[in-house]
Amino acid sequence: MTGLPIDLRSDTVTRPSAAMRRAMAEAEVGDDVLDGDPTVRALESRVAELLGKPAALFFPSGTMANQAALWLLGEPGTEVYAHEDSHIVNWEIAGTAGLVGLQVRVVRGAPVLEADALRAAFRPASIHAPRASVVCAENTHNGAGGMVTPLAHLRAIQATAADQGLPVHLDGARLWNAHVATGTPLADFAACAATVMVSFSKGLGAPVGACLAGDAEPMRRAWEVRKRFGGGMRQSGILAAAALHGIDHHLPRLGEDHARARRLAAALAEVPGVQVVPPDTNIVMCDLTGGLTAPEVVARAKAAGVLVTAWHPTRVRCVLHLDIDEAALARASMVLAEVLAA
Ligand SMILES: *Cc1c(COP(=O)(O)O)cnc(C)c1O
Repeated sequence: MTGLPIDLRSDTVTRPSAAMRRAMAEAEVGDDVLDGDPTVRALESRVAELLGKPAALFFPSGTMANQAALWLLGEPGTEVYAHEDSHIVNWEIAGTAGLVGLQVRVVRGAPVLEADALRAAFRPASIHAPRASVVCAENTHNGAGGMVTPLAHLRAIQATAADQGLPVHLDGARLWNAHVATGTPLADFAACAATVMVSFSKGLGAPVGACLAGDAEPMRRAWEVRKRFGGGMRQSGILAAAALHGIDHHLPRLGEDHARARRLAAALAEVPGVQVVPPDTNIVMCDLTGGLTAPEVVARAKAAGVLVTAWHPTRVRCVLHLDIDEAALARASMVLAEVLAA
């Protein structure tokens, strides 16, 4: 095997392009903790406008933005309702408990959060039972292979939460993908939640960063929470410039990742011993039914120059992104088909 491996482990592995690096190098900057950075301001206005929210705040990571949102909307000693496979439950090192003081009540069932399952999970009122303070939805849903929650379903979740007096936080790390896959305006999705997080370091290809958007007053408080969490950044316009470049140049091309994911899925669906979840967006989940384990597949694919993830003991995850072109897709399809057929 010669050359760099083809890396399908995540859409976070993209390297900033030459044009993105140029935009970063040329960014006008200030001290964003002291009195503001003009490029960060430009990014925040741009995102607020795209999401149809009064304000947005730039964070160093989606994880910090999610936790800040839960801090703003939730109340220590109460519960956040979230799907059992959601990012805040599985991949944020129990920040809900460690930082925010929230207990998680997981909603089980369908691959993503659904209004009926949420309603069924609400506890009967009792002085002995925990109260709920916030609901967290995720779109697209990472744990469910980039599955889209359609607008109507998200609206039903919001209405179900509102019935209980609960605000919704939307973890929209990949809301860009949901928007491109469905044609639903970002602002329509965002209208279903009090706060929305969007990430720049996934499909948009920036090295780092996320925005949290919402009403003006909660976003003023989010500034404090971000600083308290250690997320105040100085000449962060350099990072915001990468995010703006991602919105301008990489958002319109996300459909290519989705098309390539469908083609990879179609190629692997032909292989005996594999069940492929048809992808809504850029993530292909392959369930192994022929006796191979996911770690075996990962090791064999790696030896042949293709990196994939063992998502569960019998589930392999492949993610399409900016740095996977036609040639890489063709090679990865061939290698994975061979490995999976073994
Ligand atoms: C990646 C991701 C996050 C966290 O974003 P980071 O910037 O990596 O901290 C949150 N939610 C979902 C669904 C993600 O995929």
